[in-house]
Amino acid sequence: MSLFLGSMRQHIPGHKELTEKSEVLHLMPKQNVYIPLVHGRSTDKDFNVLVSEGDAVKVGTKLAETKAGLYVPIYSSVSGTYKGTEKRMHSSMRPQVHMVIEADGKQESIQAFEPQDYTKLSRQECVDFVQQAGIIGLGGAGFPTYVKYGKPNGVDVVLINAVECEPFITADYRNVMDDPQDLVTGCLIMKKMAEVDQVYICIKESHPDLIEQVKKACANAQGVDVRPVPDVYPMGWERVLVREVLHKEYGNLPAEAGAIVDNATTAIAMAQAFTRGQAITQKTVTISGNGIKKPSNVSVPVGMPVNEIIEACGGYSCDSVRVIAGGPMMGKTLIKDEFVIDRAMNAITVLKHVEDDAIECLRCGRCSDHCPAGLQPVRISMAVKANDVDEMIKRGASSCIECGLCTYVCPSHINVTENVRKAKRVIALKKK
Ligand code: SF4
Ligand code: SF4
Repeated sequence: MSLFLGSMRQHIPGHKELTEKSEVLHLMPKQNVYIPLVHGRSTDKDFNVLVSEGDAVKVGTKLAETKAGLYVPIYSSVSGTYKGTEKRMHSSMRPQVHMVIEADGKQESIQAFEPQDYTKLSRQECVDFVQQAGIIGLGGAGFPTYVKYGKPNGVDVVLINAVECEPFITADYRNVMDDPQDLVTGCLIMKKMAEVDQVYICIKESHPDLIEQVKKACANAQGVDVRPVPDVYPMGWERVLVREVLHKEYGNLPAEAGAIVDNATTAIAMAQAFTRGQAITQKTVTISGNGIKKPSNVSVPVGMPVNEIIEACGGYSCDSVRVIAGGPMMGKTLIKDEFVIDRAMNAITVLKHVEDDAIECLRCGRCSDHCPAGLQPVRISMAVKANDVDEMIKRGASSCIECGLCTYVCPSHINVTENVRKAKRVIALKKK
């Protein structure tokens, strides 16, 4: 039974109250930022570095850009001196090359590019601008946004995802609450690029204050409206959002259902690029969980070391914690906190370590009942134990979105999601 087709609609305690109403802390690195020279599958070898060791840089200086394939520029997030590259652990759990910049603390900035009046540009010129500005999906995926608007044939609506369904994370809430006008401007730009008449900003019904704030901001924006959605998990997954709002299913991409789905903070970043010539150099990140002393939203330059942010948030609340890049359901647990804030990152969750108390599978079927992708995680787990790759493929393990629900609902406390992740890795290896 699929989560949103049956009675198993799952509300998960959000713990949002830990951070959503408090002031955003503005932090700077003690000395260096380490900007990852990586994007998606592109690693350092795929980038042209545009600065030399010892060069002075400002906030907005272009540091590097991809040589071929998807165009991704990287801009400096601080003013200071470029010190070369260094290999460090990345939030993807792999060592990656980072560009090291010694910050001078002055945060002198340049316009990363000339601002543009989107109302005077053609649709294609807007898309080209978004490409050059390096706007990427800020809901966690980091996919270059211009690609979605390349050929909008058959698209008749843009859905702005302001759902933020994972527990603890309130960075989008804060960004939208603090900057609703840029959100609406971003929506109007997306509306133009997608050549549609309607943009829906999707916000959880449980956030009436945010709904109110955004409704006010889009009062004069024709074709931009708020669409409240239920507070169930994973409402922020674009397939579920399309199903909920448009009552449509699709195979691979939302465009097949006539929709482009973009994150709310991405829309804000887009407005800032057009109106101020501002690149994505600063991030609002939620630092929360029961393992941190002072849960907070922080605003930090891209490349800020996570251990320095943890320290500024009062440190860990106990000796043994789990540091997760992202939220507790879909994030990745890292062994150490020695990684940095990347451009697409919106949360660090710190949880008290709990001893593994898993017992045998009860064959209760709850994991299958709740899987929003319609999978049978217990069957995939069994295939993983038996190392039966054909069965993993047959059971569709690759369609898992790693939402974490199967682990969350398992009464035996089995980390079912991790087993399905293993199956995905095994299948990917086999396909290589
Ligand atoms: S983690 Fe994967 S298998 Fe588990 S419930 Fe989510 S989509 Fe289904
Ligand atoms: S929810 Fe847990 S106990 Fe129930 S079938 Fe799935 S893995 Fe087994």
